[in-house]
Amino acid sequence: MTARQTERLGISTLEDISTLILQSHDLDETLDNIVALVAKRMRTEVCSIYLLEDDRETLRLRATKGLSRKAVGQVTMRIGEGLTGLAAEERRVVAIQEPQSHPRYRYFRETGEERFHSFLGIPLFDRKTPLGVLAIQTKDPRQFSPEEISTLSTIAFQASSIVINARLLDSIRQKEEESKRFARELAKTRQSLIERQPAPADTGDTVLRGTVAYPGLVSGKVHILDEGLGFADILDEGEARSTEEIQRLEDALEKTRIQTLFLEKRVAERLSQDDAAIFHTHLMILEDRSFQEKLQQKITEGHSAPYALKKVVGEYIEAFSRMEDPYLRERAADMEDIGRRLLGNLVGQNNHPLQLKHPGILVAREILPSEMATLDHEKIRGIVTEAGEKNSHAVIMAKSLGIPALVGVKGAVRAVTPEDRVILDANSGCLYVHPPPHIVEEYRRLEEDCSRELHRLEEFRDLPAETRDGVRICLRANIGLVSDVAVALRNGAEGVGLYRTEFPYMTRSDFPDREEQYQLYAKVAAGFNGHPVTIRTLDIGGDKALPYFTPPREDNPFMGWRSVRVSLDNRDIFRTQIEAILMAGKEAPVKLLFPMISSLEEIRACKQVIEEARQNLRKEGCEFAEAVPLGVMIEVPAAVQLAPLLAREVDFFALGTNDLIQYMLAADRNNPLVNKYYGPLHPAILQVLRNVAGVARREGKGLCLCGEMASDPLHFLLLTGMGIREFSMPAPFIPRIKAFMRDLSLKTARKAAREVLTMSDSAAIRTHLMKVLESIENR
Ligand code: PEP
Ligand code: MG
Repeated sequence: MTARQTERLGISTLEDISTLILQSHDLDETLDNIVALVAKRMRTEVCSIYLLEDDRETLRLRATKGLSRKAVGQVTMRIGEGLTGLAAEERRVVAIQEPQSHPRYRYFRETGEERFHSFLGIPLFDRKTPLGVLAIQTKDPRQFSPEEISTLSTIAFQASSIVINARLLDSIRQKEEESKRFARELAKTRQSLIERQPAPADTGDTVLRGTVAYPGLVSGKVHILDEGLGFADILDEGEARSTEEIQRLEDALEKTRIQTLFLEKRVAERLSQDDAAIFHTHLMILEDRSFQEKLQQKITEGHSAPYALKKVVGEYIEAFSRMEDPYLRERAADMEDIGRRLLGNLVGQNNHPLQLKHPGILVAREILPSEMATLDHEKIRGIVTEAGEKNSHAVIMAKSLGIPALVGVKGAVRAVTPEDRVILDANSGCLYVHPPPHIVEEYRRLEEDCSRELHRLEEFRDLPAETRDGVRICLRANIGLVSDVAVALRNGAEGVGLYRTEFPYMTRSDFPDREEQYQLYAKVAAGFNGHPVTIRTLDIGGDKALPYFTPPREDNPFMGWRSVRVSLDNRDIFRTQIEAILMAGKEAPVKLLFPMISSLEEIRACKQVIEEARQNLRKEGCEFAEAVPLGVMIEVPAAVQLAPLLAREVDFFALGTNDLIQYMLAADRNNPLVNKYYGPLHPAILQVLRNVAGVARREGKGLCLCGEMASDPLHFLLLTGMGIREFSMPAPFIPRIKAFMRDLSLKTARKAAREVLTMSDSAAIRTHLMKVLESIENR
C-alpha cells in the first residue's frame, strides 16, 4: 500500500470504527465487529483481540477473524508468553516475519495459526495500563511498512477506547440488572421497600439511546427546553404567608424584568430592532401597576405567589382572547409567555428557550421550528429530543448549524435535571447522564480525536469540489437564518442552493415588511462573494407555522394549504416577498425559487405575480434586478411528470427529495412509525431522480438537488452517477463530501448508478452501493 492509501485507509477505518458501536450491543459483539473490520481493511487473513483478565496477568483471546472460532475464550497466555504476550510485556509493537522461527514464538494448537507467515502485535492501553493486544497475521510473508504500523497503532488506540466504553456499558448494564434483581427479590418479601429502591435512572449513571440525526460528540451541562412548566401543575396550597409571598413575587418580577431587558437586547443584536420590540411590550406589562396590584391582592387573600400568578394571568388571557381586535387578541400569547417566565422565576426553574446562560446540551420533548429559530445557537452544543423525527425542520436547522443531534430518546426529559453533566455521543446514539469519571475521561479523549478529525476536514474547505478524475461538482449550502451564512462560508459553500425564508419569518411577531426583507436578503446574498443565493419563497404549512399566522385546522397539513398555495392565496404578502427578492438581486446574484409547484397553472400564476412586482417597483422607482433566474422545486410527483413542460417555464429545477420521497412513497417524513417506508433508495425514487436529471439535461436547464439525502456519501455517489452536478446540503457536510469526492471517479459512480437502476428492491440497492463505497475506500 502507498503511504497515502494507508493514511486514507486509517481515516476511513477510524470513521467506521466509531460507528461500529451503533451495531454492537455488548463487548463481544463490539470486539467481533472490530476484528472483522480491521482484517478486511488491512487485507490480512487474521485479526485477533486478546484482553487482559482481571488478574492483570492473563491474556485471553476474545475475538478473532481468521483463527479458529473455537479458540475464542479458550486460548489464554500469560503476559510475556508467545509473541502476543511479548507485545503486552514490552508494551511495544512487535512486527515479525516467519514468526515460527522467533525464539519467543509459542504455538497454540486450538487456533490453527501455523499457516501464517507474518505477525504484527500492537498493545492496547487504558491510559497507561495495559488492556490487551490487537494482533494481525498474514499467509504471505509480509513486511509491514512504518505507515501501516502507525495506522494500525491509531486504530488500536481507537479500538482501546471502544473496548473501555463497551466494558463500562456492560458494567452499567450489570449494575442495572443487579439493582433490578435486587428490587425483584425485595418485592417478594416487602412491597413497601421496593418503593424506596432507586430506579435504574437514579443509580448515578444512565445511558439512554436514540437515533442519530446529526453525528458528533459533545459533553456539557443540560438545558431543558421544557414546555411542561405550566400553570396546570400549580395548586392552591392555601394559608400562604403574605409577606413572604409578596417578597417572593417582587424578586421574581425583578428577575423577569432583567431577563426581558436582556432578551430585548439580544434579539435586537441578532435579528432586528423590530423583532425585539415585542419584549418591550412584555416589559410594559411587567411594570403595569394594575397587573402588580391584582397579584398582590390575590396573595393577601392567602394564596401563594405561583397560585396568585396562575389566577391573574388566567384572567388576562381570557380577557385578551375575547377581544375583537386581532392585535389585542394576540396579546394573550404574550401574557402566557410572561406568565411562564415569571412562574419559572418564582419556582426557581426558568427554562425559557432564549435564556441559555452557557453552552450546553439541549434536551427537549420536541423542538418547534420557531423555538429553534429563536434559540441562541452559539450556546447549543448538542440536541436531544424525545420526539423521533429525523427530517423535521428543527432537526434540519440543527444539521445546517452542525449541531450533533439525537432524536427519539425515550424518557430523556425525565432522566435529566437542569445543569446535569451529560455526554452526547451522536456517533453511537448514546446519551450518558451522570457519567462516571472513567467514561468522562474516555470521552474527553474521543472528543479530542473528533475535533482533530474536524480540523483535518477543514483542509478540504478551500479545495475545489472535484472527483478523482477531475469532474467539477458544485456544492452549495442550505440555509435558514442569517447565522447560517457564517457556517456556510466556514465550510466552503459555493453559494446557497436553498434559502428557506420561512425561518426568519418565524422569529418575528408579524410579517416583515418589504424593506426589512430586502435588507435581510441583500445581506445574505452579499455574504457569498459573487456566488448565487437561491431564495425560496415562503414554504409554511406542514410542520412549519408562523406564530402570527394561524393556519386552519387540517387533518393532513402536509397535503393541505401549504407553501406556494398559501402564497398564491395571500397575494400581497407574496408580491411583497418577490419585490424584496428582486430588489436584493440588484445587490448580489440571487435566484428565485417557488416551492411545491404541482401544475403549470401555478407556475404561471407565480410568474404573473413576478410581473406585478416588477410593475410596482418600476412605478415606485425602486431599483431591482430584471433578470433574476427563476426555478421550481420538484418535490411533488405531479411536478416530476410535468417536468418537461415546467422546464419551458423556468431556468432551473431544485430537486426537493425530502418532500418528494414522502409524497411518492406516501410516508410522512416526520412520522417515526413509517420511517421504514421513507426510503431514498426505493427503486421508484431512483427512477424518478434519473428521469428529472435527464429532463434537465435535455432541456438545458440547471438542476440542484437540495434534499437531505445528498449529504450521505452513499447517495451522493449514486446521484453523481446519474448525472447530477449541483447539490445543496447542510453546510457542515460539505467538507466531508468534498473529501469523499476526491476518492470517487465518475466512471465508478456511473457504473454504480447503471447497476442499481436495474435493481428492484431497496435493500439490494443499498447493499450494492455499500460494496461500491467500500471498494472506493479500500482503493
Ligand atoms: C425538500 O422538500 O426536499 C426540501 C429541500 O425542502 P424542505 O425540506 O424545506 O421542505
Ligand atoms: Mg420541501
